[in-house]
Amino acid sequence: MSLYRDEGVVLRTQKLGEADRIITILTKRTGKVRGVAKGVRRTTSKFGARLEPFTHVDLQLHTGRTLDVITQAETLRPYGEALAADYPKYTAGSAMLETADRLTLGEKEPALRQFLLLVGGLRTLVEGEHEARLVLDAYFLRSLAVAGWAPALESCARCSATSVRAFAIVAGGVVCAACRPAGAAVPAPETIALMIALLRGDWPAADASESRHRAECSGLVAAYLQWHLEHGIRSLRHVERV
Ligand SMILES: [Zn+2]
Repeated sequence: MSLYRDEGVVLRTQKLGEADRIITILTKRTGKVRGVAKGVRRTTSKFGARLEPFTHVDLQLHTGRTLDVITQAETLRPYGEALAADYPKYTAGSAMLETADRLTLGEKEPALRQFLLLVGGLRTLVEGEHEARLVLDAYFLRSLAVAGWAPALESCARCSATSVRAFAIVAGGVVCAACRPAGAAVPAPETIALMIALLRGDWPAADASESRHRAECSGLVAAYLQWHLEHGIRSLRHVERV
């Protein structure tokens, strides 16, 4: 058995036997790891609450035959505590964890950019300078971009014309009048501008947006994300719509 250290964010946990849990963590260097935390459900556990979802932890693990075993865990940032007190932030954070889990398919395949986006997204959410739903939509757009699914937002996804008219999920983003498939949404130009601002991280522009454009943006981004993940993101149902 070999020993390794890494840091990561706890994505989810599941019970194992009487007192143990399997902890799924998106780590900085190793990628997604599933590790066993022995005795973590006992009140006397040395891990305490450090292996709960949202916690950014420094870990030591033993490589096992099937699952690795977590031997040490130190809290770097307890994001869960700050999020649990605020329902919109908590639901947005839950949707981030689930999306990070879904966008990192293979275990132990390094996913540094997804890790950095998740940590940055949780930190921004906790700091509370921007509306939770905007932070979540920015996270969705950027994590989709890292996964290779950035929507076309500035020119037609099909012919590159710069005069765009509609947003078509199946086409991969905005489309011109000629390329517009039946049933494509026709969002306000301000909504597309908000999506561009969120993808770029232009917070002054995003914060200045109107709530009806934020609502339209959230609907389009959620539909786009879900189409790419094929199945719905469960936590999204609980995110409050503006
Ligand atoms: Zn076109």
